[in-house]
Amino acid sequence: MFSIQDEVGCYIACVADSGLLPWLMASLFMALLLFAFYLKARSSRSRISSFIAAQLCMLASIAMVVSSMQCSRMLTIEIYTAYVFLSTMLILFLPRIYYRILIKRYRARPVAELMEWPQVFVNSLKEQYKTPGMSEVYYYNSAVPRAFASGKTIFLSMGLLEIMDKAELKAILAHEVWHLRHNTRTPILRHLSMITFTRNFSESELENMADIFAADVVSRRAVESARSKMS
Ligand SMILES: [Zn+2]
Repeated sequence: MFSIQDEVGCYIACVADSGLLPWLMASLFMALLLFAFYLKARSSRSRISSFIAAQLCMLASIAMVVSSMQCSRMLTIEIYTAYVFLSTMLILFLPRIYYRILIKRYRARPVAELMEWPQVFVNSLKEQYKTPGMSEVYYYNSAVPRAFASGKTIFLSMGLLEIMDKAELKAILAHEVWHLRHNTRTPILRHLSMITFTRNFSESELENMADIFAADVVSRRAVESARSKMS
């Protein structure tokens, strides 16, 4: 009978014997760094690439442990199972809580503190199109005109609120509500990459569909003038 401490001790001894311990530590440290970068990254491309790189570092770490094993391999399958379990939970649940990280990062505040109508408009749209759950509209302090949706939250920058008239803001909100409605059906990497109201060719198809919805709800003219102010 092995106790779990014995097995862990055996693993550490085997890895240390094989001379891989410094590499293992470096690889685990890199995985942590890349994951921290993933949480901080602003562009969808750097977010996806840091996430994949962190996963590769974790797999490399596991491969080093497995390759240096000389005795019991019992824990190998357990470590691998735990890793697969944890990363699957992360992939499934991180997008659901990611908007909270964004609220903190951008120091976003409910837009209702500035004006009531955007939240009322979003609530009425969600009711009209029978979308379950709450969607909250937040604003954050940045001169760059930008709007994006994550999880169940729509983010608007101060710069956007300043340059758009009411019809244009409605078109932008409708566009983002479309994204929120379709988030659950969006593939995970696109979900992670977070859909933005910017010119992004890889997302152009989704952007067109969101614009068509916004034109239906508000007007084609409002969508076009909002687009022209953002480019
Ligand atoms: Zn969009």
